[in-house]
Amino acid sequence: MFKNRKNYDSKFKERAGFKERGEFKEAKEKFALPKEEFTLSDNESNNEITFAGLNLAQPLMRAIADAGYTTPTPVQAQAIPLVLTGCDLLAVAQTGTGKTAAFTLPILHLLTEKPASIFRSGRPRCLILTPTRELAAQIEESVRTYGKYLPLKSTVVFGGVSIDSQMKALRRHVDILVATPGRLLDHVGRRTLDLSGVEILVLDEADRMLDMGFMPDIKKILAMLPKQRQNLLLSATFPEEIKNLSAGLLHKPVFVKVARRNTTSELVEQSVHLVQQRFKSHLLSHLIKHNNWKQVLVFTRTKHGANKLTEKLIADGIPSAAIHGNKSQPARTKALAQFKKGLFPVLVATDIVSRGLDIYQLPHVVNFELPNVAEDYVHRIGRTGRAGSSGIAISLVDKEEFRYLKDIERLIKHEIPKVAFDSFVPPTNLPAESPRPPQQQRVQKRTDSPRTAGAGNNRNQPLNPRQRDRDRQANNGQQQSAKPRQSQKPPVKQHHI
Ligand code: AMP
Repeated sequence: MFKNRKNYDSKFKERAGFKERGEFKEAKEKFALPKEEFTLSDNESNNEITFAGLNLAQPLMRAIADAGYTTPTPVQAQAIPLVLTGCDLLAVAQTGTGKTAAFTLPILHLLTEKPASIFRSGRPRCLILTPTRELAAQIEESVRTYGKYLPLKSTVVFGGVSIDSQMKALRRHVDILVATPGRLLDHVGRRTLDLSGVEILVLDEADRMLDMGFMPDIKKILAMLPKQRQNLLLSATFPEEIKNLSAGLLHKPVFVKVARRNTTSELVEQSVHLVQQRFKSHLLSHLIKHNNWKQVLVFTRTKHGANKLTEKLIADGIPSAAIHGNKSQPARTKALAQFKKGLFPVLVATDIVSRGLDIYQLPHVVNFELPNVAEDYVHRIGRTGRAGSSGIAISLVDKEEFRYLKDIERLIKHEIPKVAFDSFVPPTNLPAESPRPPQQQRVQKRTDSPRTAGAGNNRNQPLNPRQRDRDRQANNGQQQSAKPRQSQKPPVKQHHI
């Protein structure tokens, strides 16, 4: 944080290229830094800020125009001028706010402005660390999109796929490297990567990285980087651990906050359907067919549950695929790419994809089961209603999940409307309810780790044994329960299901 406003002003003025006093004053007012703590507030309106006003290089402006962006999102309007000053940044921003462009655009600008002094293969100038493979691939795609008229080179490395092609890519010149921590360390160990030239470090989805147990890897990586560098830390939430991490990592950071913690987008229409667990898959098939849904992302709590539901949907004539931590990385990549292209309508996922993933104008998200960590609800439904488009998020809730619903409603500070589907008639010939998996312990950590995917790779073991145990528990629970419980009462009457 700039303790001294004068220092901030002069640095900002110098980097942003303002010569005239009036010109600078005007821009400063536009970026509207409040006096107290030099912190940018939540509700900052950026109505007047245009991309042209951000002083980005012309090739970037062309790429922005090609992407169809007309106005910077709030996080872009606030972060871009700050990153351009070369200062460290701490941004609390949810996914879907345009945060990738908020750090990618100024990084591309800075790297172009100051060409590399040393050209050596496998020696990136910017390192972007992300928690999941999908997110890494997606960010590198954004780097390519925004940097398409620039001579800069980027590549991505993540686990679960062959390392050979990545080694080959690192033998060439690389300006920007996007990576997941484990595979990055593999490359360092094989001496295919040299981190001594990193000028800018980005930790994206930092809270998720900590949740997934990546801290030891991150510490190792930080120790290999040059001391003199710009650091950008982005996180959807701002818990104590992130405060501690930023205190050790960032040098006088500027703080940008664009969405209050644990808020859901107003563009997402949320509803709850109270339904017995045993009728859920029937209701889901009905919803998809009855409403002719073309693209729906469905979240289950367990990998086994995701597989089972996918099979049921396929049996009902609805092409579907499952994506979770037990699938190989090529299978995950393929399923996601095909779903994004609209080649099949339903992707059933565990929370591994609830953060960060950007599926263009995804219209529907269904929580087949509510997550037992309330924050995950916010991330799951945040896959829809992104970047100004609207979306629908439906949760199918059995009475055993009421306490999770209460937690979620407490977190998001409003009640989710309970809606009935009169057109759905539950099947009458179903056997008594099959046994439910034991409820997992209420923990903050996620059950999917990118390191659990794929076989034969010792890096794929979860770092945290407790997490591995929970994974096993979650996946075996449904198979292990021996005695079916007594059939439950019919669904609550007032909801007409
Ligand atoms: P992100 O939060 O970075 O995952 O971005 C979410 C979505 O917003 C992506 O589909 C971006 O292409 C889109 N996006 C980013 N910036 C803008 C903008 N200024 N105007 C419209 N869409 C944007």
